[in-house]
This record gives sequence, C-alpha cells and structure tokens, in this order.
Amino acid sequence: MRDNAVANPLILLGGTFDPVHHGHLRTAVDLFQAFSGRADIALMPAAQHRLREAEAAAPEDRLAMLALAVAHEPGLSVEPLEIQRGGTTYTVETLEILRQREGAQRSLIFAMGLDAWHSLSKWHRWLEIVQLAHIIVVCRPQGSSGEALNCGDALQANRTDLIDDLISTSHGKVLFLTLTQLEISSTRIRALLKQGLSPRYLLPDSVLAYIEKHQLYRCRNRDTDHQHT
Ligand code: ATP
Ligand code: MG
Repeated sequence: MRDNAVANPLILLGGTFDPVHHGHLRTAVDLFQAFSGRADIALMPAAQHRLREAEAAAPEDRLAMLALAVAHEPGLSVEPLEIQRGGTTYTVETLEILRQREGAQRSLIFAMGLDAWHSLSKWHRWLEIVQLAHIIVVCRPQGSSGEALNCGDALQANRTDLIDDLISTSHGKVLFLTLTQLEISSTRIRALLKQGLSPRYLLPDSVLAYIEKHQLYRCRNRDTDHQHT
C-alpha cells in the first residue's frame, strides 16, 4: 500500500443473527451504497444469545448461515471475532482488538440502532468507544429522533452529517443515518418455523435450506418438554 493510501472503512454491524434475514442484509447493502461502495461491511454475531431460548441456534450455525447470506454480496463479510472470543463481549473491548488488528489509520465504524444509542451511556466504558471508532446510528424514517438524548450531550462535539468525515478520519465521529428498514425480525422467523410454517422471502433461500437441513428452530427441546409434564 502506498504511504497515504488507507484501506476502506470497516463498518461493523453487531447482533445475534439468529438467524440472519433480509432486514439485516438490506441495511448492510444500504450502508455499502451510502458509502458509494467505499466501505467493507462486516456482520458481527455476538457470542452469547441474550435469551438462551431452547430454539437458539449454536454460534457455529449462526456463523455458517451468515457466511451463506453474504457469499455473493459485494462488500459484505462476516466478522467472527466475538464468537471466537466467546462469553460476554463488551463492544469497547472488541473495538480495541479490531483497532489493534486493523492499525491506527483505518476508519472503524460501529453501526447501532436508535435503541442501542439511547442506552449507550449504560455500556461498559462507553465514552472510550469514540476514541476507537466512529458510530453510525441507524434511524428509521418515521422513528423518534435521536437528536435530543442523554448521551447526545457528551458526544455533541463528535456529531457530523458528512459521510466523508467518516472516510477521511479513523474514529471519533457520530453520524445519524436514516434508512428504511424492512419489517422482519429473527423472532418472527423462529416463531414461524416452530409452528411448521414457512419463513420464505424473509431470509435468503440458502439460509433457509441450511435451517431445514440442520433442523434448526424446529420445535422445543424434548428434555424441556418433559420437565413440564
Ligand atoms: P431478534 O428478533 O432475535 O431480536 P432481530 O431480527 O432483531 O432478532 P438482531 O440479531 O437482534 O435481529 O439484530 C441485529 C442488528 O440488526 C441490530 O443492530 C438490529 O437493530 C438490526 N436489525 C434488526 N432487525 C432489523 C431489520 N428488520 N432491518 C434492519 N436492521 C435490523
Ligand atoms: Mg433484535
């Protein structure tokens, strides 16, 4: 690489992806296009499922489904770091590892929904996040505004409306981006499968084929059923 040639920004999209669906993928493609294709979008599954439902898929299955989902999509990839680390992973620690790995120059961008933004001030070492990465807050067109809020004050000086600011610097900016999101949730997909109904067109066919082949999200664990009888 030439001296002043810096790699494309790396945009991280966290979640449980249990399973990944077209809502996630459409947002990833929208982000890629918002950066005019000058960004790498990485879907980063969390190690631990919050609810530990009987139907939750194993981390290896969630990774495999993500790999299938991004296989033919330019600019999209899967970041397995949090699953490799295992257990509870704090965003700030994940970003420290990624900063180390990607070098001081590369633009790192952590994308979060408005809900996550509203609770940011409760996150572990939250003020250090902008010392490691930029933040994109993904807002829905009719959603409530994120402008006035608790952690907004502390990060007011970090705000920008220019995507170019996130490309030309490595960290420290907060950008609100309004994107239309599809009304799809993994919860609904799991519920359909549990009832033996089809979630087709809510997620990629390749992911659905994997779910069927490995009989994921099918029905409750028999052992759990027995405990209730
Ligand atoms: P669950 O129903 O299990 O909570 P989910 O569909 O909400 O799953 P997550 O894995 O929780 O998916 O979400 C991963 C990330 O994707 C989060 O940042 C979340 O805000 C975002 N996201 C969730 N659903 C959508 C959607 N329909 N469109 C765009 N982004 C979404
Ligand atoms: Mg969710």
